[in-house]
Amino acid sequence: MANQAIVHASELLTGAGIRVKDGRHVAEEDLGRIKDGALVYSVTRTGREIEWVGPTAKLPKKFARAKKVDLKGLRAVVPGFVDCHTHLVFAGDRSDEFALRCGGVSYEEIAARGGGILTTVRATREASIAELEKLAIARVKESESYGVRTLEIKSGYGLSFEAELKVLQVIARLKKRFPEMTFRSTFLGAHDFPKDRTREEYLSDLLDKMLPEVTRRKLADACDIFVDQGFYTLEEAKLVLARARELGLAVKMHADELVNTESAALAADLNCLSADHLLKISDRGIAKLASSNTVAVLLPGTAFYLKAPHAPARKLIQAGACVALSTDFNPGTCMTLNLPAVMTIAALYLGMTRAEILAAVTYNAAKALGLHDRKGTLEPGLDADFTILPFARFEEAYYRFAW
Ligand SMILES: [Zn+2]
Repeated sequence: MANQAIVHASELLTGAGIRVKDGRHVAEEDLGRIKDGALVYSVTRTGREIEWVGPTAKLPKKFARAKKVDLKGLRAVVPGFVDCHTHLVFAGDRSDEFALRCGGVSYEEIAARGGGILTTVRATREASIAELEKLAIARVKESESYGVRTLEIKSGYGLSFEAELKVLQVIARLKKRFPEMTFRSTFLGAHDFPKDRTREEYLSDLLDKMLPEVTRRKLADACDIFVDQGFYTLEEAKLVLARARELGLAVKMHADELVNTESAALAADLNCLSADHLLKISDRGIAKLASSNTVAVLLPGTAFYLKAPHAPARKLIQAGACVALSTDFNPGTCMTLNLPAVMTIAALYLGMTRAEILAAVTYNAAKALGLHDRKGTLEPGLDADFTILPFARFEEAYYRFAW
């Protein structure tokens, strides 16, 4: 077992107070900011574990021989960022559609011309595993460059038994290809309804074919569902998520995005890991989430991209909800992997403080994936998942817009 050390970080943010408060009502002192910080970790065959954190001047003698990386007071160290909601595996290009939409062509007209989500579904179905993997590898590298160390990826652009399995197999390959990253694979077969099956046929595919096969082959850690007007109903969500849970998967929900369906309240009642989007969440939904262990995952890059009103972040935070931020990287409504840029939008338009923002992309996002026992803060005994920023202060990560 070899020890390695990072020394003379301009500052090191442990986030220890965020863990103490379970990511709720966090304040400035919870950042655990250490000037001229150091961190020692051990490397074993199974992973990297934090041994010690503190000011460089107080580095214990027993670590004097650890292999050191000297940051010379120029770069800050923070808990590794967690991007807890992405749709990273897909094929097809919708840049033309984006340009048309911005030029005033309506979404309905684009859909009537065969565009929209169907463009992505068609291209993803036609692509080989190798083609999808190649596209995904470049995207994972880009995400890593923004300081992301844990990445959640959903299926959902296959919408058929074969294509959904194909997408999940690509995620499995990524897990092997990037051993330094942690991945969470989420089955989102219930993203939409395919055009080539009736609603009833597809629901029974989900319940009786797809979920059992996905779990038998251990291709997913969780199951997600898009509950909204024109998509899945509350009753369908209960069915699908109950089946997923019965098969051993954690459950999540795309909730209250387009209209209020009280799906966030249902997510809390079902003890989902997270309820995501929440643009139209009601006061009842806010109260339910605040008194539950379900993380409120906000995706302000999507609201920005759609020019939609933002989620009520301050209300959620003041009520005591555990709030996370994520990119929602997807080809239709948020084509970015830049999590720090999402932090900028959250600071400006959600009115989130720096402690709230750090919590939202570390501990709270790890909690949205059920990984907060080992990740999200920098403390002895936890996974040594950290990000060395190219800046001297944490705030610069989102003060510099879209770096
Ligand atoms: Zn999504």
